[in-house]
Order: sequence, then C-alpha cells, then structure tokens
Amino acid sequence: MTSTASSTRSTGSTGRQGLASKFAAEQALTRLLKVEWQVGKTGKLTPVAHMDPVKLAGTTVSRASLHNPDEIARKDIRVGDMVIVQRAGDVIPQILGFVPEKRPKDAKPYKFPEICPVCGSHAVREVNEKTGKVDAVRRCTGGLICAAQRAERLKHFVSRNAFDIEGMGDKVIEEFLKLGFISSPPDIFTLEKRKVKLEELEGWGETSARNLFAAISQRRTIALDRFIFALGIPHIGETNVRLLARAYGSASALREAMRAAGKEEEAHQELMSHDGIGPIVAEAIVDFFGEPHNVEVFDKLLAEVEATPLEAVRQSQVSGKTVVFTGALEKMTREEAKAMAERLGAKVAGSVSKKTDLLIAGPGAGSKLKDAQKHGVEVIDEAEWLRRVGGQIINRLE
Ligand SMILES: [Zn+2]
Repeated sequence: MTSTASSTRSTGSTGRQGLASKFAAEQALTRLLKVEWQVGKTGKLTPVAHMDPVKLAGTTVSRASLHNPDEIARKDIRVGDMVIVQRAGDVIPQILGFVPEKRPKDAKPYKFPEICPVCGSHAVREVNEKTGKVDAVRRCTGGLICAAQRAERLKHFVSRNAFDIEGMGDKVIEEFLKLGFISSPPDIFTLEKRKVKLEELEGWGETSARNLFAAISQRRTIALDRFIFALGIPHIGETNVRLLARAYGSASALREAMRAAGKEEEAHQELMSHDGIGPIVAEAIVDFFGEPHNVEVFDKLLAEVEATPLEAVRQSQVSGKTVVFTGALEKMTREEAKAMAERLGAKVAGSVSKKTDLLIAGPGAGSKLKDAQKHGVEVIDEAEWLRRVGGQIINRLE
C-alpha cells in the first residue's frame, strides 16, 4: 500500500483502493466481471463470481461465492457492479453487496440460466422439500447425459437397489468413463457388442471380462420398479418407484403418461391422484421426461433392456393398512417383507404413529415397540404376519 488516497473517487484502481480503506481489513471493493455457473455432481447449479483481482487479507482474490443463487436476485447484484467482497478466515470469499452510486448505467438485472452450461438440458427451479416453496436453486434435468453428473448417475444406475450389476463398482465406472467405454447407462449394455477389450485392461483378465459381460447380460430383464429407480430422478425413492410401476404398468406407458403430464392438465391430475405422489415428486418426474435428452437415453435403454411389470396388488387382510416393521426378521429380509406388504396393498411406513395399523416386531424391537404400545397399535410377530398374509403368498406362487 502506498497511500490511503481516501479522497479519490474515480472508478479507476486508485479509487478502488481508496474506498477499500473505508471497510474492515478483510473486505474490499472490486468489479464483478461475470457470473459463471458450476454444475455439481447431482446437477445443482452454483454461481461463482469472477471479479477484477483484488488484494484481500494478504492474498489476491478474483473469484467469490454468491452463497446461493437467491442472493443475486435479492441483492440485485449485476455484472459490472462494484461489489463488496469479504474474506473471513479460510472460507471462500463472499460478495456482500454492491455500491449503488458506482453502478454502470447499462447494467441489467441478472438473468439466471435456463439451460445447463455443461449439457444444454433444461435447468429448473426446484420445490424446496421443507418449505414447499419454489427454491432459488436450479438443477440440470439432463441427469442421464450431463457430463457433470455422469459418474454419480452411473454409479447409482448399477447400485444394489437399481440394476445391481455385480463387478461394476465405483472404481470400474470411473475407469470406464475415463477410457470412454461408457458415457450413459445404455452404453453398459453395448460394451460386449462393441467388442470393448476389457481383458486388456490392467488388473483384468479373460475371466473377469467374461464375468462382467455375464453379469450385465443377466440384467437385460429387470423389474420395472428397479428400472425406474435406476434412472436417478431427484426425489424418486424406492416407495415412489413401486407406486409408479404399479400405476403405469410399463416403461413406455410411464414415459407417455409423464410426457403428457408435462403438457396436459388432465394427465397431470391423473399423476397427482396417486396416493403418495406429491407435487415435488410429480414435478421432478415431469421435468425428467420433459427433457428430450433423457427420453433419448431412456429409449436407447429400452432397446437393450426389458423392464417387466410388477404383479398387481392383491386384496388381502392387510390391504389399505399402514404397517411398520421393526426388529429382526427370520424368514425374509426387510426388503422382501416390505415388497410383500406392498404387493398386498399395505402401506409400509418407517415410524409408528397414530395412523399405524400394525407393527410387525421381531427380536430386538426397541423404541418402535414402545411407540406402538403408547398409541395402542396392534403388535404381531413375523409368524403371525406370515399366517395372515400366507394365503396370498401361495396365490402368488401359483
Ligand atoms: Zn447438465
């Protein structure tokens, strides 16, 4: 620092230094040159401010966080503004605000991107799960093709509750991506056809290559709910996928219905009429199918894979009841028990409340058992559960 020059009011560099002296040591004034959007691995768009380099707390700073996209709008920060940037400790510098009298005449209100800067898919505003209001956060809807999201989506696609492809862990996905063997899910199913030489990779041999091709082949037929889950649509969990699978019956029917729900009120109402499909889920799935890139990948996938419909819900003693499982089960896994209950028309909840009809408690049941007693919920063990639904299991196997 050569002088404080506090009387200088020009917009040149001396002026910047002069004004900076009026702020605390860790704040400075500089010009906002542009806002760049980074796409996270789950598709979230985050703004990064690029500024004229400025000395701040001993280092030169040229990039800052706008914290969340809302701040750009709320603070009406515009490109060209002289902005107050602050750095506290080791955190990323932040833009606090701008100097109104230094705003260039032609500065325009900031326009948020409507397409993903990485893949060109629609970037939509999400509904906040907690508040139910439209969030400032934008998310790229091109989950299946977006390079920023590719690795995460592919890992999800092959994961245990999705396609469950044995031998295709995170490391293999990363390696195949790097080598350009795959870029989106359908590519997994064309590896063998394309004669990709897996056996030539380091650590691979003919046996491991053959095993992976076999594991992939085994998944060419898959239940529709897993198929939908594998797509990795935001907010669409395992309960929702079963619901959607049952409601629409086939992958292509789902695709048509969701495309229609994005355009026609009637189809949208139909989607919303399913118990358990709220506005957030509905919007997420409509957005997904509203993105042509995704539909293209979806269709390519359907050309390789057959998604089989789930069995219809059967009427039973537990149809329409809300049930909760707790403690250990001996005859089946928790997943199987849940799937069975849902097949029989029951709703499986994660915790006990007044609305619970039945608690199936195995050894080791703890707080849920206490809650059930408190709310006067009927409690039965696994054997009694099987007895009540037993007839339906036999039916199912016939
Ligand atoms: Zn994208």
